[in-house]
Amino acid sequence: MGMFDTVRFRCPNCPEGMVDVQSKGGPCSLYEYEFGTEYIEPGVLAGLDDGFDWDCDSCGKKFIVESEITVKLVPYEEEDNSDVGENEKE
Ligand SMILES: [Zn+2]
Repeated sequence: MGMFDTVRFRCPNCPEGMVDVQSKGGPCSLYEYEFGTEYIEPGVLAGLDDGFDWDCDSCGKKFIVESEITVKLVPYEEEDNSDVGENEKE
């Protein structure tokens, strides 16, 4: 089963705008992160689809996400890389 995580960005140009972006760089557990309000694993941010440049559906303006990745030490865990399926975007 193709899996991914979703990162939700708030548009800096208008209060309503939200852009959901899929990432396959993290744990791919269908988790939804809201950028700016919680810790997001660097792998999730690094694996975002379509680069760092999006159009807001609400105001139509483009915005760019400049990544600011912080380093964090975590215990090593064995990764399961058996799931490499692609998931089609709706
Ligand atoms: Zn907007």
